[in-house]
Amino acid sequence: MSRLLFWLALIFLIGFAIRSKIREAQKRQQPFNQPPPAGPAAGAARQNTSAEVETMLQCAHCGVFYPASETVQARGRDYCSAAHAAMPSA
Ligand SMILES: [Zn+2]
Repeated sequence: MSRLLFWLALIFLIGFAIRSKIREAQKRQQPFNQPPPAGPAAGAARQNTSAEVETMLQCAHCGVFYPASETVQARGRDYCSAAHAAMPSA
């Protein structure tokens, strides 16, 4: 009888482990609360929807990545600072 209980417990534990693994994998597929709304402008909307993750841009002069809110635009390119925007591009 105790053997049967042992096997039942083992099966329950294995089932629980598999279920938690599946849940973990599903969480990895949807890292945020809501997936970005799909539509004709899905690509553009993806950059604006989440306030937690800000879009990062690369400076055309030094190549450093910085938040899009701090961008300095000059000659149609993005720069990390006014100093780099003033410099002649290579
Ligand atoms: Zn720069």
